[in-house]
Amino acid sequence: MNIILLGAPGAGKGTQATRIAEKYRLPHISTGDIFRDNIKRGTEIGLLAKSYTDKGQLVPDEVTCKIVEGRLKEADCADGYLLDGFPRNLFQAEELDKFSKVDAVINIDIDLSLLMDRLCGRRVCKDCGESYHINFLGGKSDCEKCGGELYQRKDDNEETVGNRLKVYGEQTAPLIEYYRKKNVLINIDGVGTIDEVFARIAAALGQAK
Ligand code: ADP
Ligand code: AMP
Repeated sequence: MNIILLGAPGAGKGTQATRIAEKYRLPHISTGDIFRDNIKRGTEIGLLAKSYTDKGQLVPDEVTCKIVEGRLKEADCADGYLLDGFPRNLFQAEELDKFSKVDAVINIDIDLSLLMDRLCGRRVCKDCGESYHINFLGGKSDCEKCGGELYQRKDDNEETVGNRLKVYGEQTAPLIEYYRKKNVLINIDGVGTIDEVFARIAAALGQAK
């Protein structure tokens, strides 16, 4: 199955993606992770992406679409994939339709007022990418899964989160209608524990199969 995870920044896409990818044995492709990896390695794409990610703006479509098109051609995507953070606007969605067929779009629905706290309190593992929230870490600074060091993303600050939520509302939220019209939208209530949200997703995907 080719699955897209849609939702505002902080809705829980990355958190749920790890679990969905494991259960359904799908490669988890996060464009945000791809950009952060390029930034860390100082590649040409990284240098370009940094000027956008630091401000909470979208990296140009041309660059982003080319990366995703190339990635979906890799062997591990032959039996399906889980896209997280792409597409993020109408142009990207239309481009994706040209090079792949989307089977299901899971929209993690959550009130935007909850997201500033979720994102500013997020801590991410440097090694495996797992996300945590400071409220539930009990002062720990390493990853429960792999022991890696936790860090705060540079764009998880109030000003940048404000921009990211604005970009989401203006450019990404219209994709909910786009995929509803194509009859592939699965709306999931994103409020509840991580396990509760995952159970809703698994139940909906079970029916979609
Ligand atoms: P996204 O990938 O959509 O930007 P994340 O999965 O990284 O979002 O989650 C953002 C923050 O919210 C993280 O700190 C994460 O631990 C926390 N979080 C994720 N799911 C839940 C949930 N169901 N309830 C409370 N906090 C959550
Ligand atoms: P994320 O990890 O999904 O929160 O994305 C972090 C940042 O990476 C975003 O704020 C954008 O700057 C950039 N980014 C991720 N995905 C895309 C995309 N599909 N199109 C453009 N920019 C993206």
